[in-house]
Amino acid sequence: MTNVGTRETTKVVDGGSPLAGKMSLLGLPRARLQQVLAPHVERSFRVDQIYRAIYDRGIRRFDDVTTLPLALRRHLSAHFSLELPDVVKRHRSADGTEKYLFRLADGATIEAVDIPEGDRRTLCVSSQAGCALACRFCVTGYWGAGRDLTAGEIVAQVLAIRAVERPGTHGLNVVFMGMGEPLLNTENLRLATQILLEQISWRRVTLSTAGVVPGLRELAAWEQRPRLAISLHAPDDERRSRLMPINKKYPLAALLGALRQIPLRSKERITFEYILIDRWNDGPDDAELLHRLLQNLPSKVNLIPLNPDPVLDPKLRRPPDARVEAFRKRLAELGTRVTVRRQRGDDVSAACGQLRVPGRDPRGFRRSNFSF
Ligand code: SAH
Repeated sequence: MTNVGTRETTKVVDGGSPLAGKMSLLGLPRARLQQVLAPHVERSFRVDQIYRAIYDRGIRRFDDVTTLPLALRRHLSAHFSLELPDVVKRHRSADGTEKYLFRLADGATIEAVDIPEGDRRTLCVSSQAGCALACRFCVTGYWGAGRDLTAGEIVAQVLAIRAVERPGTHGLNVVFMGMGEPLLNTENLRLATQILLEQISWRRVTLSTAGVVPGLRELAAWEQRPRLAISLHAPDDERRSRLMPINKKYPLAALLGALRQIPLRSKERITFEYILIDRWNDGPDDAELLHRLLQNLPSKVNLIPLNPDPVLDPKLRRPPDARVEAFRKRLAELGTRVTVRRQRGDDVSAACGQLRVPGRDPRGFRRSNFSF
């Protein structure tokens, strides 16, 4: 065994935290792990044992990989880490949803949410420690930008929750819908996706984006791609630009054009998330505009009644249930596939758009541009 190559891959995109003394083995797809460990193991099946210990058994210390010879365990501990983020806080909601606050190696904090649903569970994980996009309805955006997470830090959120709850991969779904914009951190998302798809089907991994067109072009060329969800939220450019500043840079025509270039798999549909805001985008005419907009794309719409938060503009309100149902019904009558997202975890601020960076000053853009 030799030391050659232990420190070569401390680049941020390769999973290992550049701040940690030892290189993290999290964030390396199987083939990459093989390359990194090749100089350290005499027999290549050892890499499979290590890979399975990390992803199937969730071990956190090489000492616990008892299938490895003691000398190898010691050698690996001296050179590599399997560190998961610290769980600073856990908030359990009355409905079983659990919000995790994690502290990363450099002190940055992020949130992730565990949403059990019968014998399935969905883990909602962060892609950045904050968000630069400043969508007017989103609490994360209100608190401002933060750094990109490494692939290892993205995958580690899944492993850390699995280490607490001990769920296997059966019935496990992962959504990149936590803090941050995944398509502003594409290379790390590509690697994290590759690792997750070694464990679970692409059908159970969803990347949600506000519509970063260059990111969508990159994603179209990924060898392995998760499902795709687009945060749409308004049926025309004028309103979408007021709600989501990114729409000024990548308006609807550019966004939908980029989506048409993505090669979809058999029966695959793109999900369009649409936050319903009382008397602002929830009328029957809006349902028709939305239907027309999506007509030429294999799509389905997921309606999300707005989750209010004290930092958001008080003019943004959730519509009464009857208006939500009327909107759903109109879309369905027109022939659009549509579901309504049930609100989960709102009593512990774990619902969509309620994840924040603790201890930061807000950037304060709220009371601004809504006319009704
Ligand atoms: N940046 C990515 C992923 C994070 S947002 C994106 O924009 O898709 C994850 C989901 O939460 C998106 O569908 C977003 O639109 C939704 N969301 C944000 N704020 C919300 C709020 N106040 N109420 C309901 N849903 C919200």
